[in-house]
Amino acid sequence: MEICTVGGFDEVGKNMTAVKIGEDVFIFDCGFFLPGVIELQEIEKIGYSLPSLRRVGGIPDERVLDSLGWKDKVRAVFLSHAHLDHIGGLPFLIHRYPNVEVYGTPFTIEVLKSLIEDSKVKITNKLKVVNQDSIHKIKTSEGGIEVEFIRTTHSTIDCSFLALHTKEGTFFYALDLKFDNHPTLGKPPNYLRLKEIGNKKVKALVIDALYSYTDKKPGGEKIAEHLLEDAFSKINRGKDKALFVTTFTSQIERLNNI
Ligand SMILES: [Zn+2]
Repeated sequence: MEICTVGGFDEVGKNMTAVKIGEDVFIFDCGFFLPGVIELQEIEKIGYSLPSLRRVGGIPDERVLDSLGWKDKVRAVFLSHAHLDHIGGLPFLIHRYPNVEVYGTPFTIEVLKSLIEDSKVKITNKLKVVNQDSIHKIKTSEGGIEVEFIRTTHSTIDCSFLALHTKEGTFFYALDLKFDNHPTLGKPPNYLRLKEIGNKKVKALVIDALYSYTDKKPGGEKIAEHLLEDAFSKINRGKDKALFVTTFTSQIERLNNI
């Protein structure tokens, strides 16, 4: 097992990790680095192109896979969740990997489709919709390998930890970790399966959580929902007008609920 930390390991954004097992390579996430993308938006005020995104460092520089001789060995892309720093770069890079299938949960793939539409690029790769808590066999040069999507929680829905089960042990990919036992939508993380995988051989664990270096305990999504309810309760119904600006899909979901 060889791991290439393509992007997101020393910054918040453009997450991308490549894992090579024998003669097969698997990509985990392919995101935007938002400050770079915003800079580009302000300068060019038009759609993004691959060269301009590369220039501002808005996407992972996966040309490292060319120099490693890994590029033509990529068999599949797995997406952990729908945030832009995990899927935003994909529409601009996936054409470099023709015939490679992209796996993600229903919500993640829907968000990806809207990004593809917005970016006006043509994608020929198959987008495979898979559910949380499911295992899939991927064709490899040695026959096949299993990838598992394990249900977890975060500030958007339909998130997964990803486990690539290899003969050497499991490669476990757990970015944007946030265990929320009271999610506003969906179920709590699948602790049982995490335990089972942990008890077997995990060869490598890639794990990351914002603010993990602080003592602060992040509130569950329920707390955020209550804060929104509180803000909305101050509106004088029938008299006041309000303009809501939101940037995350999870917040839109809450607005719908309220
Ligand atoms: Zn995230």
